[in-house]
Amino acid sequence: MKITRNTIAKTEIRKLISTSPVALSQPEIQQALNDVCDRVTIYRVLDRLVDEGAVHRIVNVDGVIKYAECHQCETQHHHHNHVHFSCEKCKAVTCLEDVEPTFKLPKQYQVKEVNFTLSGLCPNCS
Ligand SMILES: [Zn+2]
Ligand SMILES: [Zn+2]
Ligand SMILES: [Zn+2]
Repeated sequence: MKITRNTIAKTEIRKLISTSPVALSQPEIQQALNDVCDRVTIYRVLDRLVDEGAVHRIVNVDGVIKYAECHQCETQHHHHNHVHFSCEKCKAVTCLEDVEPTFKLPKQYQVKEVNFTLSGLCPNCS
């Protein structure tokens, strides 16, 4: 019974994230699901989706964690290198999939994850 409910939650949450034009936070997901799922269930599902390479975490300008869809990631292995835009006014976080940050590190450093967030005003707010 519990498994079934979690599976439905997972399908719904995944659908929600993939159809949203902006990244979503856990409270936004909970609200969109009309409180059908509790916080713990949503967090557990989101953790699993991150592990599976289906979604990735982005921290917005206020330190709130948002989730967005992945397009070419695999289980246990995220490989994206794109910029995130965090709007100061409406708080929307958008994946800018075509914008690649470039940087040059001293050679002892090994990059495992790129977390590149720009903040300012989104097209709706500027
Ligand atoms: Zn990913
Ligand atoms: Zn905005
Ligand atoms: Zn992204």
